[in-house]
Amino acid sequence: MNECGDALMTGFRRVFEIIVSLSFLPAILAASSCAPSSDEAVEQWNLVKLRISDKEVIEEVEQDSTAMALVRQIRSLDYRFVSNIEPGFLWIIVDDDDLRSLHDQGYDLDEIMREGERELFKRMVWGPRMELPDGYHTYGEIIDELRSLRLRFPEITHLESIGRTQEFGNEIFAFKVSDNAATREDEPRILFSAAIHGNEIMGTEFCMALMDELVNGYGRIDSITRAVDGLEIWFVPVINADGYTISTTDHPMWRKNARDNNGDGILSDGDGVDLNRNFDFSFEASGSEDPSSRYYRGTAPFSESGARTMATFVENEKFLFSATYHSAEARVYYPWRISRHGEEEYSSEDILLTGIAEGIAGRIRCLNDEYYYEAVRNTFDDAYTTNYYYGVLGTLDFMIELGKYDHVYPKPVLDRIINNNKPGAHYLLERAHGPGLTGVVTDSMTGEPALAIVRILPFDTGDITPRTTDPATGRYFRVLQPGEYSLEIEVEGIVVKRMESVVVEDGGWTALDVLINRR
Ligand SMILES: [Zn+2]
Repeated sequence: MNECGDALMTGFRRVFEIIVSLSFLPAILAASSCAPSSDEAVEQWNLVKLRISDKEVIEEVEQDSTAMALVRQIRSLDYRFVSNIEPGFLWIIVDDDDLRSLHDQGYDLDEIMREGERELFKRMVWGPRMELPDGYHTYGEIIDELRSLRLRFPEITHLESIGRTQEFGNEIFAFKVSDNAATREDEPRILFSAAIHGNEIMGTEFCMALMDELVNGYGRIDSITRAVDGLEIWFVPVINADGYTISTTDHPMWRKNARDNNGDGILSDGDGVDLNRNFDFSFEASGSEDPSSRYYRGTAPFSESGARTMATFVENEKFLFSATYHSAEARVYYPWRISRHGEEEYSSEDILLTGIAEGIAGRIRCLNDEYYYEAVRNTFDDAYTTNYYYGVLGTLDFMIELGKYDHVYPKPVLDRIINNNKPGAHYLLERAHGPGLTGVVTDSMTGEPALAIVRILPFDTGDITPRTTDPATGRYFRVLQPGEYSLEIEVEGIVVKRMESVVVEDGGWTALDVLINRR
């Protein structure tokens, strides 16, 4: 969530969401009278309800200056959790000092309950039963489901472990849906992944639902059959398997991995690395260097096995597209905006990238059904998947932020978020059928596929690592808009071929095989 800034989740849900959410409230309140007697050793936190507006429903907190001023002040507190479970109010979890400070500043507030921090999280995020709500699954259940799908659809699915987490030793699973799934075919590849942040568990459910739709729709729905036959569609439903395990069993707000930062052998609040700040890209500027921060980047690029595993996987598979599911902002982030010499610059491929990001975002309805998701360039100065996959590996990655204000919604809302998001994913699948340029680079002397840099001018600038052919096949894919381009092929540091006025057609892939002579 909130890849661009602060972690504050705030705003106001519209009517539908309100009706669903309010069903939590009486139970939360009732529970205060039967809360377990306080253990001296457990620090008590305060669940506080702040009035932020007299309006019944406000569309966006940003449009309400009173609310926004309050939000800015709340941000300066050491808050633990913020929700807008009830319109017109912010529900926050604060310590005693901050509670006093709120009183001193004269806020209109109600103290709802005082309880251990963990219990408050569970009430706020999971609801009155204080257990993982219907519609969500533990990591064990996700793995069982992958294995079950693998058995039920053996022709078109493939399951493999691509790595292990460093603390709990959880395997990180990748699941492929494609015809001839057992073999690596010479087809465009696309990745859907989720839960790089352990508590952003709606993304996992989305991946599972999309997977389910693909395997069941194969042979029945034309667009799905075409996608499964023509593409290699991969899923990594849970990247941060340790963080996901913690967040689905014990601590619903656990975002980072389980890295024991202070080496005391105990998993505590200051532990963990934000895997989405740990890639080898703009690392020194990325997130925070403070281990207790929610955005802690780790001690070095790729210090964390979760980030390393994904980098290696994406590099090996040379994905055309990747959709990395987060929550909760109703946005699609894409690369990138660079602050340079006081100016804001965009990627040299900005028109293409913006077009695709808007293509995704413009198909995903917000919960209120009136608005669509927003496409937003993310900052260059962070070690996100987006920047590393795009900048270094040549995979166009989009961080899709599901939902709007919270990471866990009751099942009816979750189902709506999933259904609303499917058109965005289907657009990306469709876009993987072109337009663009593809071909095989062959060495004329040996007749073998060549490992070559394929440069599209004027896009390939110093901000990105040169795009290469697949060494196994000599194949290159380049997503492009229809138009005229120049092409440059480089092998071992020498430009061996240059082609002008290469026309990329609308619809489908334009084929251009290249024979090179290295002498
Ligand atoms: Zn996230």
